[in-house]
Amino acid sequence: MSEGGAHAGFAHGRRLRSTPAMRRWTAQTRLAPADLVLPVFVKQDLVDPVPIRSMPGVVQHSLDSLRKAAHEAAEAGISGLMLFGIPAEKDAVGSQADAADGIVNVALQQLRADLGDELVLMADLCLCEYTDHGHCGVLTPARGGARGQGGGLVVDNDPTLDRYASVAVAQAQAGAHVVAPSGMMDGQIAAIRAGLDSAGFTETPILAYAAKYASGFYGPFREAAEGAPQFGDRSTYQMDPPNADEALREVAQDLAEGADAVMVKPALPYLDIVARVADAVDVPVSAYQVSGEYAMVEAAAANGWVDRQRAILETLTAIRRAGAGSVLTYGAVEAARWLR
Ligand SMILES: [Zn+2]
Repeated sequence: MSEGGAHAGFAHGRRLRSTPAMRRWTAQTRLAPADLVLPVFVKQDLVDPVPIRSMPGVVQHSLDSLRKAAHEAAEAGISGLMLFGIPAEKDAVGSQADAADGIVNVALQQLRADLGDELVLMADLCLCEYTDHGHCGVLTPARGGARGQGGGLVVDNDPTLDRYASVAVAQAQAGAHVVAPSGMMDGQIAAIRAGLDSAGFTETPILAYAAKYASGFYGPFREAAEGAPQFGDRSTYQMDPPNADEALREVAQDLAEGADAVMVKPALPYLDIVARVADAVDVPVSAYQVSGEYAMVEAAAANGWVDRQRAILETLTAIRRAGAGSVLTYGAVEAARWLR
């Protein structure tokens, strides 16, 4: 077909694409600063922020640099922050996760005092940044046929739930508006809800990382959060990438246990899952554009292989188009500035 030709009998789709204004008028998916949430890392005892080599533009924050970044995020108009803490001392049970003076809880107190309710302060709820073995729960010797790779150790589901409930209460006490369990233990939402309720935090919502896949795209995050497993991997508790129906079961289970909102992670390689989950539920759906997705675009842009701004906005739009109401992305503040 030639440019601009008239084609009798064909739909005239190009009529509605002819100018930027026409395309803006007909856009089915819009992206706004309020659709975005910024994940942040705060590390104990840092004086200055430390750049993360594999995630250009992203840092491990000191408490002071985090407060500054939080103000900038609020000014940019994004909806919230997702906090990850990196303690100076790690142990087998992740004690610093629920210590009142643990880094993430101190950061939550400061941000809540600074910002009040201006941003939704979400606390990632897991143990992997806090355990010396880097797994998301406490360990036990393997029973039966399963042979762990760490001298026969495996993550023990139910004792981990007790730890999660305690961490949830500590985070809510410190000022988290939302707790976001990401460990993929069975029964974690029910245990956390019960823990929050019995401590009086009946109004604290749970954003469940309901469909979290054992993904190769988490690589840079492990540098950022210093939480790489010291043996084995997370395939026995995170979801297997070939599975889709299972995501719907995980989401249904989390909602039945009391989750208020659900998340799919990663985002771009799992847009089909985002779409199916968004169709299936009537609660808010988030998608997490993970470190490897971010790094992939940054690396290609640094080589001049893609137009950085265009590629970033296209990925965010695609995640929204698939059905996510909100997107967690390391580029949230910069993207929000572009969108204003
Ligand atoms: Zn974890």
